[in-house]
Amino acid sequence: MASITENSAVEGGASPPPAPFSAFAAELVGHDARRAAIDAVYRAPETECLPELLRAAELPAPMATQARATARSLIEGLRARPTAGLVQGLMREYALSSQEGVALMCLAEALLRIPDAATRDALIADKIGGGEWRAHLGRSASPFVNAATWGLLITGQLIGAVDESGLAAALTRLLARSGAPIIRASVDTAMRVLGEQFVCGQTIEAALGNARPLEERGYRYSFDMLGEAAATAEDAERYLASYEAALRAIGAASNGRGIYEGPGLSIKLSALHPRYARGQRKRVMDELYPRLRRLAVLARELDVGINIDAEESERLDLSLDLLETLCRDPAMAGWNGVGFVVQAYQKRAYATLGWIIELARATKRRIMLRLVKGAYWDSEIKRAQVEGLEGFAVFTRKFHTDVSYIACARLLLDAPEAVFPQFATHNALTLATVHAMAGKNFYAGQYEFQCLHGMGEPLYNQIVGRGGDARPCRVYAPVGSHETLLAYLVRRLLENGANTSFVNRIADAAVSVDELIADPVEAASALAPIGAPHPKIVAPRDLFAPERDNSAGLDLSNEASLAALGQALAASARPDWHAGAAFPAPRPILNPADARDVVGHVADVAPAGVEEAFARAERGRLGWSALEPGARARILTEAAARFEAEAQKLAGLICR
Ligand SMILES: Cc1cc2nc3c(=O)[nH]c(=O)nc-3n(C[C@H](O)[C@H](O)[C@H](O)COP(=O)(O)OP(=O)(O)OC[C@H]3O[C@@H](n4cnc5c(N)ncnc54)[C@H](O)[C@@H]3O)c2cc1C
Repeated sequence: MASITENSAVEGGASPPPAPFSAFAAELVGHDARRAAIDAVYRAPETECLPELLRAAELPAPMATQARATARSLIEGLRARPTAGLVQGLMREYALSSQEGVALMCLAEALLRIPDAATRDALIADKIGGGEWRAHLGRSASPFVNAATWGLLITGQLIGAVDESGLAAALTRLLARSGAPIIRASVDTAMRVLGEQFVCGQTIEAALGNARPLEERGYRYSFDMLGEAAATAEDAERYLASYEAALRAIGAASNGRGIYEGPGLSIKLSALHPRYARGQRKRVMDELYPRLRRLAVLARELDVGINIDAEESERLDLSLDLLETLCRDPAMAGWNGVGFVVQAYQKRAYATLGWIIELARATKRRIMLRLVKGAYWDSEIKRAQVEGLEGFAVFTRKFHTDVSYIACARLLLDAPEAVFPQFATHNALTLATVHAMAGKNFYAGQYEFQCLHGMGEPLYNQIVGRGGDARPCRVYAPVGSHETLLAYLVRRLLENGANTSFVNRIADAAVSVDELIADPVEAASALAPIGAPHPKIVAPRDLFAPERDNSAGLDLSNEASLAALGQALAASARPDWHAGAAFPAPRPILNPADARDVVGHVADVAPAGVEEAFARAERGRLGWSALEPGARARILTEAAARFEAEAQKLAGLICR
């Protein structure tokens, strides 16, 4: 217990320690004005973002009419196809709103994190136990849905069987006899069924072979080696080797078709390093970048386009650093095969694209730019709430994302010398809007569409071909074993199950074509105020309202926040903070995050000395010895509280 005093001389110690938090300050990245402009909208209110986006997204009336007409015809074409909605039907059947849908997704996601079989089995039993699977039998018009439902209930060989009443009786007996173990095996079977739908091949060679029929119809391919973020250095090495092997195989199959016509490879940076996070920026630049470069150099040799996938929003800034380093690398000079993905649901999308276009111009290249809406919406919302951040990185209304997509598409189409736009969407209206904006006079290399393997083909079959009015579409084709597909599958299930998603709504006959082609610009313009966030999505700060404010978190992936934190740390942590300075032999207090930092000194004192210490410290001012014991106790308590508050403030800053 002691008071804090300043500017006391520190006894002992020959050389002065480094200024506290100087290592933190040294790692701050000073952003130039354009990058700072991207940081500024990271979590900006939607009301500030929308006016500019709406201006950019507004189409001339004839163009909007044309887009809606094309979308209508695409949707009618899709709905007329009896087989188009098989997977969509499955997704609807097990949507997030059903108990089983939630169980399946929890299960699939959780399985990925569990290393041992016994715990996996226990989790399966737990999650499946509560689901009313049998209620789904025979409910859907789609035989695929029923088959998969059976697959979830009974073993693989019964998938596709047709005698439902017989199966139901058999199933009842089976469940009574076998119980959970059979169900466990069935979940595995269901995952396989879905895997076969969404995965192009278990090996790159198989996938290249499976791609051929659609390539002949005018499709192109970009392969994605399944597997998620590397958790260890060994994982990263394995992914790197698998990307290299894939590039060689793709290069051989491409046979000189080049980056626009031939197949490409999509790369997840999180697969190339286990610490792909802002806090490890130096390691990312020193260790991850050389791996990315190695892949890019090989891709260039083979003339195979590579595309850097977009992941969680807190990785965007780092990925821009890596993209810039790659574009400025002399080994990449003059090559147009570097690709990057931007998510329109992020508030930074529009500013990011402006920066990338400038980067392309400055480095005299054309960057392949895939525009997506973004696959991590749910987790972006939840993470910001849990961490008490100042706002969301993503929009909260679906039509705001759609408006952002159109504004971004406009930007890309207007910079043909700097970017090769790749419009990735399964939404017929989004497709038709881009189609109308790009104009009738399509020329080779102007742009392409992209869709996911197993999901987008029925839509794109209507516009892909070899004729004059056809447009190119590249299929994003995951490659890997069924064991590696879970995280990817969960994203697709979330995407398809969401009731705002186009693929979900088109499978619902109750949703009219007019609703499906409702203009997002009109919807966004009708809001008051423009850009008002979704009222049901609670802002991070209001998570516990009205009881209390959520505790405020610090955004450690935003350079602007980090710079402010650096200043606060430098101002608050001074080595001349002393606790118990009146006593001899103070000992240094170190920053727990960096033991080189001395953030203050404390001199310990035995309990008997406490009163004497305060007497000495306060005597002159208060006339300590003249005070009543009660007054002395009060002063001591107040001083201790003051000290504790200061100490907590300091500890808070250090530990963040
Ligand atoms: C070829 C290809 C490659 C892809 N690569 C990536 C990638 O690298 N990184 C990545 O993140 N995604 C990627 N995706 C997925 C993509 O981001 C979308 O999730 C998906 O395509 C759905 O968008 P849509 O236009 O097809 O459908 P739509 O149904 O029109 O849009 C659905 C999307 O709208 C957004 N949304 C939904 N609800 C809201 C809401 N309340 N507020 C704001 N926005 C909302 C979400 O982004 C959601 O995915 C890729 C998709 C394709 C086709």
